[in-house]
Amino acid sequence: MTTFKNFIAGQWVEPTTAAYFENRNPADTRDLIGRFPRSGAEDVARAVASAQRGFAQWSRTPAPLRGDILRRVGDILTTRKEELANLMTREMGKPLAETRGDVQEGIDTAYYAAVEGRRLFGHTVPSELRNKWAMSYRRPIGVCGIITPFNFPLAIPTWKMFPALVCGNACVFKPAEDVPHTGHVFVEVLLEAGLPPEVIQLVHGFGEDVGAALVAHPQVPVISFTGSTETGSKVGETCGRMHKRLSLEMGGKNAQIVMDDADLSLALEGVLWGAFGTTGQRCTATSRLILQEGIHDRFLGMLVDRVRSLRLGDGRVAGTDVGPLIHEESRKKVERYVEIGRSEGARLEVGGSRPSGAGLEHGYFFEPTIFSGVRAGSRLEQEEIFGPVLSVVRVRDADEAFAVNNGVKYGLSSSVYTGSVHTSFRALAELDNGITYINAPTIGAEAHLPFGGVKQTGNGHREGGWEVYEFYSETKVCYVDYSGALQRAQIDTYAG
Ligand code: NAD
Repeated sequence: MTTFKNFIAGQWVEPTTAAYFENRNPADTRDLIGRFPRSGAEDVARAVASAQRGFAQWSRTPAPLRGDILRRVGDILTTRKEELANLMTREMGKPLAETRGDVQEGIDTAYYAAVEGRRLFGHTVPSELRNKWAMSYRRPIGVCGIITPFNFPLAIPTWKMFPALVCGNACVFKPAEDVPHTGHVFVEVLLEAGLPPEVIQLVHGFGEDVGAALVAHPQVPVISFTGSTETGSKVGETCGRMHKRLSLEMGGKNAQIVMDDADLSLALEGVLWGAFGTTGQRCTATSRLILQEGIHDRFLGMLVDRVRSLRLGDGRVAGTDVGPLIHEESRKKVERYVEIGRSEGARLEVGGSRPSGAGLEHGYFFEPTIFSGVRAGSRLEQEEIFGPVLSVVRVRDADEAFAVNNGVKYGLSSSVYTGSVHTSFRALAELDNGITYINAPTIGAEAHLPFGGVKQTGNGHREGGWEVYEFYSETKVCYVDYSGALQRAQIDTYAG
């Protein structure tokens, strides 16, 4: 069995705690991937001290040269795509097609970041005073604490770290304890690409130990967190008290709306992919299906038929549609929501249990599950389950569909299937989400566009695309007065 280490101060080192945790394949828990450090606050402190040294060097490296290293990262990820996809599926369960997509998102993000190293635009604008220049540019900030969830083990760390690094910051990376192997290999790739060792630190461990220590460390001015809204609130409290720059990407309760005038076959493919891909464990997963009454019964019938034929299994086996949940706790949570659905009077159409099939007995599998007759405002309809459970709500018209979509505390993504231009553009204007798809599922973000949600999904920042570069840099405004005289803005300009 392999015992893995942290990467601190340029070396692979054991944790000061001398404690470890096991990482097992969720599709077959007999398969032990390795032991990983269960680090503590002392390991975080060492990592931050080293990252400060890394920052001093890296922040002075020209941004285009920083970008060159990101390009090499993209090249290495391309070469190692299949290997990474396989180890990621073994570690967190989603089928290979999806983990390949996860790696590809990292590759796209790397190449975007590489080019951004030659842009990082500031502004030059006219001064109101004569013989004076006014301009702004973007400065690195310092050590960034990067805390990530299990469901996109590579893509999400790349969304955060690549822009952070191109902007000239150093990173202390705490991957989710469910996916430490992907985190380990990711850091190997960064080092292979030539990133100076002290610019990246990897500290494995649990959220309440390593994550909390990183968030509370006074020399970490930037925290980027993706995970549950519950954990995000704790992170936000500490960052608020310490005046840290914080990006939060949290939970969702995303809906696909299907109108009477929709292409039903297209909408069917969309909801299958949106609701049951990654076993429903995506922040953008389709958790609610809002059906207009004219197509409700027919569409539900089509959907239930298809869901019965989805194949559960190890994501590395060809033909697997749906992998396991990440761990037993998640499966128990899904079971609790099945009970809640029943007690709230929703009708269980399909699924609702642990599967009994051969080869599934050692994994955290759960049947793809659909409830119909779900009442807007019920717990099943309101709360994030993070599993393969879809709640179907019947509505009269677009007004009611949009109200149901907007009636939750989250606001990540939404989707509308319709043949009407009118309904499409109304949806773009009226749905309270960071992302709205027309005639496409709730999942499908592209790396070069901003990504994030409104309401309790986020705190106003975006990942991806051009906007994230604002988060990882400070704007410095520069005035250069070459008039040789004291010129007073506002006062001399409009004197008299
Ligand atoms: P989680 O909140 O349990 O854990 C996320 C990370 O936070 C992990 O690395 C964990 O170790 C760490 N953590 C836990 N407690 C902490 C603490 N007290 N202080 C600091 N860090 C701590 O989430 P998860 O189960 O890994 O992921 C699922 C959640 O993530 C879902 O709610 C999902 O919607 C959300 N998510 C959101 C997005 C998005 O972009 N909006 C993307 C992916 C996942």
